[in-house]
Amino acid sequence: MSETLAADIVVVGAGIAGTSFAAHAAAERSVIVLEAESQPGYHSTGRSAAQFIVNYGPPDVRALTKASHGFFTQPPEGFADTALLSPRGMLTLATEETTDELAGAIAQGSGIEAIAMEEAYRLVPHLNRDVFVAAAYEPDSTDIDVAAVHQGFLRRLKALGGRVVTDARVESIARHNGRWQVATPAGTVEAEILVNAAGAWADEVAALAGLRRIGLQPKRRTALIVDGPADGCAGWPLVGDAAEEWYFKPEAGTKLLVSPADATPMPACDIQPDELDVAIAVDRFQKAVDIPVRRIEHSWAGLRTFAPDGSLVIGWAPGVDGFFWIAGQGGYGIQTSPAAGRTAWSLLKGDGIPADAAAAGLDEATVSPGRFAA
Ligand SMILES: Cc1cc2nc3c(=O)[nH]c(=O)nc-3n(C[C@H](O)[C@H](O)[C@H](O)COP(=O)(O)OP(=O)(O)OC[C@H]3O[C@@H](n4cnc5c(N)ncnc54)[C@H](O)[C@@H]3O)c2cc1C
Repeated sequence: MSETLAADIVVVGAGIAGTSFAAHAAAERSVIVLEAESQPGYHSTGRSAAQFIVNYGPPDVRALTKASHGFFTQPPEGFADTALLSPRGMLTLATEETTDELAGAIAQGSGIEAIAMEEAYRLVPHLNRDVFVAAAYEPDSTDIDVAAVHQGFLRRLKALGGRVVTDARVESIARHNGRWQVATPAGTVEAEILVNAAGAWADEVAALAGLRRIGLQPKRRTALIVDGPADGCAGWPLVGDAAEEWYFKPEAGTKLLVSPADATPMPACDIQPDELDVAIAVDRFQKAVDIPVRRIEHSWAGLRTFAPDGSLVIGWAPGVDGFFWIAGQGGYGIQTSPAAGRTAWSLLKGDGIPADAAAAGLDEATVSPGRFAA
């Protein structure tokens, strides 16, 4: 793309947020998605733990998660060749010090129940016996095939005539005669509406357009792959502690993905793992299980980006023509993506919160960018 292209809507960012929105919008309007990297999904979307957890996050996240479940289990015809969700389950463990957190998770959640420690040991036989005093199990937590979901949105977008331009980092944004002029090294796009789905960079994109920053905070989260036990772990649930200080889950049949559940504030960047976080992950993992860590096959880090109040940001920027936010997906951007993309498109059109998301408890004020206006 070296010429100037025109569209009704230009989306900045081809992660799960931008593509889930664009796949809806392209059914009715012309859409161009601009992606800074050479491939969509290079940042947070390609670095997740790929989990769907019903009882996770603030109420708006739980509502969007609930409203996304039907899409994941019955996606539109031709969306994906494989199942998007597969059974996993989630086991949450408490020590003497964290029984209150576990009780709170059970009291506030749905479909999560206390189980006996004997049952926890049956589910994960390699748990150390002298560490945990209570457990809860959430059977409806599943694995998500993130690549299939993301590719499905991209395929749908393209089938509807939408376009993704890679190597197109937005460098300047101006508004002339009711249209945005969005300049990138790959060329310029003119559009009536700009949708800011730039993940950790969403505040920077807003600033380029002359808007106030919301105060989004990217936070680093680290993950590593280690060998599982010789007697297998493929059928284990995701296992985490009630204070969210670590978790692990089976990966590729014989391995385990381990995270120290870190949340270190960072500037937006191509984040890399810190050696200390990797060491902390190994230490916490070894306190939980009797599996020796002889080598770390691979480690990575990604950014989970939060609004100041922890809820998503979906809606028109107040007082600015044609600027729409989809940001602050935190640690839930994959599991909420079907309903978040659909909600964004519905709000952009002026149709309000979709009925199923509203029935699940989502209200417009909670996610509106207007809540940060002084
Ligand atoms: C370790 C880890 C584990 C996680 N586990 C889960 C999980 O189990 N379940 C879950 O639901 N979520 C999980 N998440 C969170 C999830 O990955 C994110 O919420 C989600 O990927 C955010 O998507 P996004 O599209 O907003 O961001 P991104 O995927 O980062 O996409 C934003 C895109 O915008 C582009 N961009 C930025 N600036 C510009 C610019 N100026 N011009 C053009 N393009 C630009 C970037 O290159 C990027 O591709 C996890 C995250 C991490 C890091």
